[in-house]
Parts: sequence; structure tokens; C-alpha cells
Amino acid sequence: MPLIDRLPVASMPVMLLPRQIMNVISMLDSKPLLFPSSFPAPRRKTLRILQVNLGYRCNQQCQHCHVNAGPKRTEAMTRQTVDDVLACLREQRIGVLDLTGGAPELNAHFRYLVEQASELGCEVIDRCNLTILEEPGQRDLAGFLAARRVRVVASMPVICRRTSTGSVALASMRQVFARCNA
Ligand code: SF4
Repeated sequence: MPLIDRLPVASMPVMLLPRQIMNVISMLDSKPLLFPSSFPAPRRKTLRILQVNLGYRCNQQCQHCHVNAGPKRTEAMTRQTVDDVLACLREQRIGVLDLTGGAPELNAHFRYLVEQASELGCEVIDRCNLTILEEPGQRDLAGFLAARRVRVVASMPVICRRTSTGSVALASMRQVFARCNA
């Protein structure tokens, strides 16, 4: 009899289950438990877009951020992994590279990755909070992205006039839009 069937589940609190038993539980095959259905099986098409998270560092710190990104986060993709990404694009002939974070532009290898991917003929998407374009050291970023025809997908940070960070973000956004419309 499988180990899972021998567990006195009702008398054993889940929190006290040993790791080995938890592994057995997580490996249960649920497929036989599914009802027969006429719903068509999903079919995998060609891989077209590779989305890559370059790290959790961000110039903003939005409350809604699902990766809890912020200025103090240090996790960042290494150069070696960036080169692995480029190799993957090349070998799999993937046409679109979609970059996200944190603020992906704050990864030290962001521009290298964009340049190399562009040279491979990939379309590059930068998921950008826009305020990064006004940060010290990033004032040439807009020109860099434009020169490589990077598609900027803007997701706005939290903007709340009542907080100092919100006011700064709002001012940055206004400057970015003014530059775009100049
Ligand atoms: S701008 Fe985006 S990545 Fe940065 S903290 Fe806000 S939601 Fe997170």
C-alpha cells in the first residue's frame, strides 16, 4: 500500500508531517482523478517570446509590487546567465525577448543584453516604469532604447500625491512625457 494511504491523516496535523512524507504528497499523480472531458487538449506552439526577469532592484517601491522590488533589493541576473539567455535565443531561434524586473534597466548587463539580442535580430521589449528614465545615470536611456528600436511597455508605479515618493514619481512621469512630446 502506498505510504500516503497508510497515513492516519485525521490524527496527524499537517504541520508535523516529516519532509519525506510531504514529498510523497507533493508527488501524487492527479491525472487519473480528472473527469473525462471533451475539452480539447492544449497544443504547444512554437516558442516565440522569452520573458526574462533581470532582478528585483527598482528605483520605486510600490505597495502593489508582486515581487516586492525596491532600491534595497540586490538580486540580479549574472552576466553568465545573461549569456545563457542569449545562447537560448540563438539556438531556439526565438524572435522576441521580453525584459522585466524590478526595473530591468538597473541590471548591470541590461544594455549588453539588449545590444546582443538586437544583433541577433530579436525584437526587445522593455517593461519600464518610465520614472527610471529620469534617474541619475539613466538620462541617456531613452536614446539608447530608441536607437535599438526597443519596444517600451510602460507599467506605471504607484503615484500618490500625499507621499514624498509619490510626488517624486509624479514629477518624473511629467518630465518623461514632456521629453516624449518635445
Ligand atoms: S515600479 Fe514596478 S517593479 Fe518597481 S516597485 Fe513598482 S511595481 Fe515593482
